[in-house]
Amino acid sequence: MSGSTLLKETGPREVFCGLTSIVWLHRRMPDAFFLVVGSRTCAHLIQSAAGVMIFAEPRFGTAILEERDLAGLADAHEELDRVVKNLLKRRPEIRTLFLVGSCPSEVIKIDLSRAAERLNAQLKGQVTVLNYSGSGIETTFTQGEDGALKALVPLLPSSQEEQLLLVGTLANPVEDRLKTIFKRLGIQKIESFPPRESTKLPSIGRGTKVLLAQPYLTDTARELKDRGADILPAPFPLGIQGSKLWIEAAAKAFKVNPSLVDSTLEPLVLRAQKALKPYFEQLSGKKLFLLPESQLEIPLARFLHNECGMELVEVGVPYLNRDMMRPEIELLPENTRIIEGQHVEKQLDRVREHQPDLVVCGMGLANPLEAEGISTKWSIEMVFSPIHGIDQASDLAELFARPLHRNNLLSRKTLETV
Ligand code: SF4
Repeated sequence: MSGSTLLKETGPREVFCGLTSIVWLHRRMPDAFFLVVGSRTCAHLIQSAAGVMIFAEPRFGTAILEERDLAGLADAHEELDRVVKNLLKRRPEIRTLFLVGSCPSEVIKIDLSRAAERLNAQLKGQVTVLNYSGSGIETTFTQGEDGALKALVPLLPSSQEEQLLLVGTLANPVEDRLKTIFKRLGIQKIESFPPRESTKLPSIGRGTKVLLAQPYLTDTARELKDRGADILPAPFPLGIQGSKLWIEAAAKAFKVNPSLVDSTLEPLVLRAQKALKPYFEQLSGKKLFLLPESQLEIPLARFLHNECGMELVEVGVPYLNRDMMRPEIELLPENTRIIEGQHVEKQLDRVREHQPDLVVCGMGLANPLEAEGISTKWSIEMVFSPIHGIDQASDLAELFARPLHRNNLLSRKTLETV
């Protein structure tokens, strides 16, 4: 590890739960359905996070367990079976049904893996039923994707064929561009996980080399490794530096001629550096504080320091997988303060003490900080925006320059009216 300072903190947390990842997963796999087994709070979260009402028939819903159902577990199982059967009658196109657990204590008592097994036996050939937890007690919002992918791994067919597997949801156009680059490098077979159709699962085995596209897939990576895949150590594809090293890691594993890699990537890098320049001017020297939420914090800090010149005050992460993050941490400046976990009160005290120019945080903390005159960026925006790859570096920087620019305009306006 580089000379970063790695510390741990525990206490009250302020993060979204794993249910939130349903919002991007259901878009990725339109033939899958995510049925949250939860309370009205869960239904409310998922509706407001997705901005879509349940009655509009989206590809997720909530089996709300009423008092009556919770009175006895037998009732809860019957109620769940009834909801699932009604759903499948209305939506025969569903091919994979995820039962997503949540944190109300009565829901925790329901064995969703047993429910999935029972439903699988009844619905054989029609739909595959899987389960994972999105509970706020166990997960932060990006971990929901880890849970969903981990549940899919046992269904992946085995194959020893040599292939590159990109793991983690990417925006479709970004993924297409990255695949084009790998094809130009001569890598023939490139698959994605999750796939765009839940039934078109990639195969896995000794010939599979995995590039993780997202930093929050610890459990999935472990399962893929257990199935024989080789997880390529690399930083994550954010910014020019991270994306280039990420592509180069695959090129090296597939023994691509380094001069072909250089000639393929050089024009992309030059174009991206030019596009990034105006943002470097806006962001350089500004103080940045990242509160823990998405697990994207370390790659973002690396990009914003190394390519945009920002000064890192503190980098918070909800969980730190040191092995997976090693290539990222090695790229951070000496003495970067990385804090795993959260004690929200203490972190807010440090934010106030350091008065950073920009804080990356959850939506719940952004408004109070803005009211105190501190510019913020919602970390959840990073998972909804196409930010991966060399081409996207300037778009990623723009996400951070925008709140600073807006606050500049507002303070100028205030001055003019005084
Ligand atoms: S899973 Fe827990 S934290 Fe998430 S919305 Fe439901 S009750 Fe709230």
